[in-house]
Amino acid sequence: MRARTYHDSDADLDVLTGRTVAVVGYGNQGCAQAQNLRDSRVRVVVGNRDDDYRARAVHDGFEVLGIDQAARAGRIVLLLIPDEVQAGVVAEQIAPGLGAGDTLVVASGYNLAFGLLDLPADVDVVMVAPRMIGEAVRDRYLRGAGYPCLVSVERDVTGTALATALAVARGIGATAAGAIESSAREEAALDLFSEQAIWPTVFAVLQASYEVLADAGFSDEAILDEMYLSGEPAEVFARISEMGLLEQLRVHSRTSQYGQLLHLERSAELVGTLRDRFARILRGEILSGRFAAEWSAPGADTESRIRALLDRAGTHPLIAAERAVRARG
Ligand code: NDP
Repeated sequence: MRARTYHDSDADLDVLTGRTVAVVGYGNQGCAQAQNLRDSRVRVVVGNRDDDYRARAVHDGFEVLGIDQAARAGRIVLLLIPDEVQAGVVAEQIAPGLGAGDTLVVASGYNLAFGLLDLPADVDVVMVAPRMIGEAVRDRYLRGAGYPCLVSVERDVTGTALATALAVARGIGATAAGAIESSAREEAALDLFSEQAIWPTVFAVLQASYEVLADAGFSDEAILDEMYLSGEPAEVFARISEMGLLEQLRVHSRTSQYGQLLHLERSAELVGTLRDRFARILRGEILSGRFAAEWSAPGADTESRIRALLDRAGTHPLIAAERAVRARG
C-alpha cells in the first residue's frame, strides 16, 4: 500500500501567520522544534514547569510561560512532553486553555490511538511525528536537510487541520525530504511493533548466539566484538539504510555473501514461526489495546515494573560477560 508524501510545496507557512504556537515541553523534541519554528519566522512561546528545562528555554531566548498559560496563549499547541504524562497534563493544564478552532499537535500517536487524551470537541487534532531524535531534527533543519516524519489529521473541526499540520511540519523542517501521510494508529502500532517484536528478537538472537559461542570455548572479548562491541552492526545498518537490504551485501566478502544467503534460504521455517508470533503480538497485544490498557492504567507502577524486568534480563550470562569485558577495558 502506497502512502502520500507531502513536500515543502504542499505546505504553506503563511497558514501560521498571526497564530501563536505554544510548544509545551522543552526536552528532546521541544527544544529542537521550538527553535526550528522560530527560525521559520513563526511566533513561538514555550510552556514548561519551573525547573531546568525552563531555564534552558529562557537561555535560548524564548518567552516561557506555565503550561496552562501557554495553552491559553497558543492557537496551536505542540504537545512535546513524555507520552506517559500527557493524559494528566492535558486534562489538568492544557484542555481548559484550548478554545474553539485551536489545534493540538502531537509528535507520537500512542495516546490518541488508545483514546487516552480527553480533549474538547471543538479543537482540531493532528499528528506531526518526526522519526528522528531531537538533536538531529535541529541539526538537519540548520543544514537544510530533511528527515522522515509522519503526518496525520485525527480530527478536523475547522476544515483546515491538514493545512495547519503541514505548515507545522514545514516549520520544523519535516517536509524538506517529504513527510508521509499516516495516522496515530499506524504510527503507534509501528512504534510498539518494533519495540515488542523486532528488538526483543534481536536481543534473543544475541543471547542464543552468546550461549552457543561461549559453550564452544570462544573468549568473551572475541564473541562480543563479533556481535556488537566493535560497532560493526551499526555500520551494516547504515549501509542497509543507504544501499538497501540486499544491495549492501556487496560491501561484504564473497564468503560472507554466500554464507548469509545460504542460511537465509534455510531460515524459511524460522520466518514462519516469527511471522505467527509477530502477528499475535500485533493483533493480540498492540491493535487490541491490551498492551496500552496494561501499561497506561491509572496508577500503574511503571517504574517498578521496568526495574523488575531489567533485573531479570540482567541475569543472562551475556550481560555478565559484557560487564566483565567492559571492566577489563
Ligand atoms: P522529553 O523527555 O525530552 O521531555 C522533556 C520535557 O517534558 C521537559 O520540558 C520536561 O519539563 C517536560 N515534562 C516531563 N514530565 C513532565 C510532567 N509531568 N509535567 C509537565 N512537563 C513535564 O520528551 P521527548 O522530547 O523525547 O518527547 C516528546 C514527544 O515527542 C513524545 O510524544 C515523544 O513520543 C515524541 N517523540 C520523541 C522523539 C525523540 O527522539 N525523543 C522522536 C519523535 C517523537 P520539566 O522541566 O518539567 O521536567
